[in-house]
Amino acid sequence: MRHSFDTLAIHAGREDLPELGVHALPLDLSTTNPMSDPEQGGESLGSMAMGAKPGDGGSVYARLHNPTVARFESALARLEGAEESVAFGSGMAALTALLMAAKQRGGHMVAVRPMYGSADHLIASGLLGMEVSWSAPDEISSHIRPDTSLIYVETPANPTLKLLDVEAVVKQAKGIPVAVDATFATPVLLRPIAHGATLVLHSATKFLGGHGDVIAGVIATNGEWATLLRQMRVVTGALLHPLGGYLLHRGLSTLPIRVRAAQEVARILAKRLAEHPAIEKVFYPELPGCDPEGLVGRQMKGPGSLLSFEMKGGYPAACELLRSVKLATPAVSLGSVDTLIQHPASMTHRVVAPEAKLAAGITDSLVRLSVGLEDPEDLWADLAGALDRAAAAR
Ligand SMILES: *Cc1c(COP(=O)(O)O)cnc(C)c1O
Repeated sequence: MRHSFDTLAIHAGREDLPELGVHALPLDLSTTNPMSDPEQGGESLGSMAMGAKPGDGGSVYARLHNPTVARFESALARLEGAEESVAFGSGMAALTALLMAAKQRGGHMVAVRPMYGSADHLIASGLLGMEVSWSAPDEISSHIRPDTSLIYVETPANPTLKLLDVEAVVKQAKGIPVAVDATFATPVLLRPIAHGATLVLHSATKFLGGHGDVIAGVIATNGEWATLLRQMRVVTGALLHPLGGYLLHRGLSTLPIRVRAAQEVARILAKRLAEHPAIEKVFYPELPGCDPEGLVGRQMKGPGSLLSFEMKGGYPAACELLRSVKLATPAVSLGSVDTLIQHPASMTHRVVAPEAKLAAGITDSLVRLSVGLEDPEDLWADLAGALDRAAAAR
């Protein structure tokens, strides 16, 4: 039976629970597993070390496989319309495994800025042996070389909310796998695989967990890439703790309603912020000029609940705003049930090369807001009061 996305978010990965006689997700904290047969156990270990799923010999050891994490992975894959997904101990561990896997197929990648600051930092560092060509979204094909093994993009981009046409990127990629960091969108608003992407990366720390209590990453993809990624995870030990898998899976059941409800609050705040005299410009996909290609509606189901804005008065005004808010929390991270506010240039994107920051519009005046599920009137009162104080301090 085919179910809608919202139904799947609640039921995927739980199909066998009635058979097990349980209703909540089982949490398996075992680090090692008894082997019924040593020969089969050994064979299972050998194939899992190469990225396979457990064979008849079972899970063997939790760095190789954990059933609680695997349940979350199967559920997330369903939501992304992917064959499989592979979870990691953080979004950055997921990106690390992806770069290491891509390196096996060729030492060059093409990437589009802006993106999450630490992702930019890792890719620009060349630490994992991948050479990068930074490209404008419409010049990707001109950077492709015989050893190009990966095209890496992020949409909506952190922190400017710039949107990218995934299908246009795939068209330019000439068959080279396209990976999309869709952390800001979640599968509720964007399913990149349906638009031709091969891999979708999430910092599951953000919306998928949704409550600010799990650091995790996940990549949804086809079976071939999933095998490579699992191999990297086994070899490097970049695994997700089962409790994290449990919490993420639980988080999926409320993901659609959390994302849509936060989006409604963000819509209200974006409009009001755009009219506030202390603000120069608001970046939110639904505001005039922010989505020139009309991707909201065509590619994305909605604008989401992240927005950023430029303050009049630059860094001092931004600092004053962060010091003055009382309901919103001045903190990095995003996608939590509560509202978080931060200054990208000095925090999340501090590690990005200055000229790249400038070119992407990550200025000292820019503030990023991750809108939560609070009452919009309470949030507005908090923000408007803090903006007035920031303006008065100028
Ligand atoms: C936070 C974030 C990451 C990194 O994820 P961690 O879980 O912090 O390692 C990657 N991409 C985006 C868009 C993010 O916001």
